[in-house]
Amino acid sequence: MKKYQLVCSVCGKPFEDEAEPYVCPACGGLMEPRIDLSAQAEHYRQVIRDGCQTGVWDYRDLLPVEGVDEAVTLGEGNTPLLSADRLAKVIGVESIFLKNETVNPSGTYKDRFATLALSMEKAKKTPAVALGSAGNAAAAMAAYSAKAGMPCFVLLPPGAVAERGWQVRGYGANLIRMEHTIDDCISMAKQGEILFGWKSLTTNMLTNPLPSDGYKTIGYEIGKQLDFQVPDWVIVPVGGAALLNKIYKGFQDMLELGLINKIPRFVGAQAAGCAPLADAFQKGLSKPEIWPGVPQTVAFAIADVCVYDGVTALDVLKKTGGGAEAATDEEILEAMHLIASKEGVVAEPASACSVACARKLVQKGIIRTADRVLCVLSGNGMRDLKLMEQGQKEVPFVKHRDVEGVKAAVNAYLEARE
Ligand SMILES: *Cc1c(COP(=O)(O)O)cnc(C)c1O
Ligand SMILES: [Zn+2]
Repeated sequence: MKKYQLVCSVCGKPFEDEAEPYVCPACGGLMEPRIDLSAQAEHYRQVIRDGCQTGVWDYRDLLPVEGVDEAVTLGEGNTPLLSADRLAKVIGVESIFLKNETVNPSGTYKDRFATLALSMEKAKKTPAVALGSAGNAAAAMAAYSAKAGMPCFVLLPPGAVAERGWQVRGYGANLIRMEHTIDDCISMAKQGEILFGWKSLTTNMLTNPLPSDGYKTIGYEIGKQLDFQVPDWVIVPVGGAALLNKIYKGFQDMLELGLINKIPRFVGAQAAGCAPLADAFQKGLSKPEIWPGVPQTVAFAIADVCVYDGVTALDVLKKTGGGAEAATDEEILEAMHLIASKEGVVAEPASACSVACARKLVQKGIIRTADRVLCVLSGNGMRDLKLMEQGQKEVPFVKHRDVEGVKAAVNAYLEARE
């Protein structure tokens, strides 16, 4: 018997079909696996209190992974929670915490999905996996397919960042470039299930509610790392919104188990060049509209025109008294520089967007100076270092044996610091 039941994340109605799309016929909310926590509450409390040892699999008993005997793992999860005091000063709040998901094996939190997905597919002896992705999901699935020894097919849309394609190929995945939008790549991966017998692993609740549940372990880790003293705000970059919804789920479980006494306000952080969730929140809609036109932003990893898991996300924002914000590319790149120069973390634009939006909310007076703010740094910017050069001053050049020249250069730097 299964330990969980698929229920609507918004209205709680059970899901009968166990087939795609995993949407509630009553309210449009996304389905999620729900475990009866009350049946073994003390055990589950202990699992969460004992967490942050090896990573995602510390929480095995809380994950929908029946049938998996052997995990396909690269040591994902158990990421640091950094207290970002220097950044907090610049932004104007007393404390900022950074959940540093950039240190995951393939560079993003998507590894928490990939470890569950590949473990499940390997146990089921699925012949291959596939996905349409602009980069980070592909990198995650390619890395874990390599570890699992399973073929992986990646359908890449035009405009995908070259560095992500190189990473995918490096892991030995089979790359196919398509002259289509990302949505066409995703539906091609889906069609391929019948044509080629592979499993499509789009990283959203809409099509893959079970591995999406891996993201809730971020919530459990934050709980333990903050000694169950929850922050006032949790700011999460949003593309399809599975990440935001599942971190919330982690907090909801901890509240139900009595480990915490409140849930933070959740904020969806988007890029102004593609902000369907922020738009819907502002208009008071219960379902995001498709973003019109082509996304224009450096934060390609969150430039989803369709917020697949948006009905649940809007419900989370409303229930927690949170909101949504959008940052321009200029604000995002400035945040990327600040995170690196104040805290020593190189975050990719999509993840720096959480800090850029936090800053805007402080400026607007919505986040107050005394509030404790947590930003999720979802992906690693080591693959986007070209962007770090933008807006930097020219590097001084000194002639052979010109000590005075070096002195002048050093002094210029020191003066600029003051
Ligand atoms: C995929 C991704 C996101 C957004 O995740 P969703 O679950 O689609 O909202 C945020 N940041 C990075 C770096 C990503 O790769
Ligand atoms: Zn529902």
